[in-house]
Amino acid sequence: MDFHRTPVLIFWETTRACPLACIHCRASALSDPLPGEMNTHEAMRFIDSILEFEEPRPTLIFTGGDPLKRKDLFLLLEYAKKRGIRTGLSPAVSELLTSNVFEKVKELNISSVSISLDAPVANLHDEIRRRQGTFVRTIEAIRLALSLGINIQVNTVVMRHNFSLLPEIFHLIKEIGVKTWEVFFLVRVGRGIDVEDITPEEYESACNFLYDASMYDVVIRTVEAPFIRRVARARAEKGEYWTGRDYVQMREKLLKYEGTPTSNSTIATRGTLDGDGIIFVGYDGSVYPGGLLPYMLGSVKEQKIAGIYRESETLRRIRERELKGYCGICEYKSICGGSRARAYSFTADPLESDPACIQVSAIARQN
Ligand code: SF4
Repeated sequence: MDFHRTPVLIFWETTRACPLACIHCRASALSDPLPGEMNTHEAMRFIDSILEFEEPRPTLIFTGGDPLKRKDLFLLLEYAKKRGIRTGLSPAVSELLTSNVFEKVKELNISSVSISLDAPVANLHDEIRRRQGTFVRTIEAIRLALSLGINIQVNTVVMRHNFSLLPEIFHLIKEIGVKTWEVFFLVRVGRGIDVEDITPEEYESACNFLYDASMYDVVIRTVEAPFIRRVARARAEKGEYWTGRDYVQMREKLLKYEGTPTSNSTIATRGTLDGDGIIFVGYDGSVYPGGLLPYMLGSVKEQKIAGIYRESETLRRIRERELKGYCGICEYKSICGGSRARAYSFTADPLESDPACIQVSAIARQN
């Protein structure tokens, strides 16, 4: 696909309302919708405008907040289906996520449902999600969806709280039968500002661990850690190994829990970046390069999404990798490019270097 013309995914924050209050929530979601939320008519107009992209058209991911808080959710999912637009759903796990929801998901042929799991044990997961009983409900929801043949993706946000537990989280989701694990890394935005991040060395350990874990027939993708593609390239082509203590410990646990690898690595060495293959539409129609990058590009209430995506000079520079600092000269920039969201959160410039990358931090230490 030509990411200059068409993204592969459009994330739509259908609402900021949510029954949970997770400590890392990028949207700082609240229990009620915010003023200015797109109404049904505006949402349908936005969905229609997606048809301006050429085939294969992007998949529209209904996210939030909790999309289940929108009364017109299934009407809009059905509308998108009738317009020939593929959809995905990212609900919060609460009493709103019932078996009826999964039946509707089947009926509407929604391509995937993502469910968050941030810890392998109830007390930590519930502490992060700030609602007791969420862990048990989450495991039940995943099992139910899988039993119905729904394509389930588990999402995990990595932070200080759960960094050392990545092998246990992987073991749990693998045991349940999940085939796709999307691992998000923290960006200082929303309530995530107050959550402790891991160090660049720990990012490197996590990425190397994920590379190993992807050799057990589970598709693993990262969000806001595109330098995993550098790790994958360096390991596959140069045989370079990271020797960080955390990684060595995680690798030992992985071998203990899962045994010898069963497949080749599923880590892709090409992929998307905020504004390069993906685009994000906020609850009020505002458009951003990604959900963790609050750099406003326009509004779908007044403009067409295709025009905003294609004509933004900032997005063109991200796509062309006209980046600053070490990311701008790095040999891996075409396959990686660094997290544009994290660069922005540290420097207020979406083209700056990603400070979580071990290469960027090494240069910063030298200077
Ligand atoms: S320096 Fe930037 S482009 Fe290079 S691997 Fe690190 S984050 Fe990616």
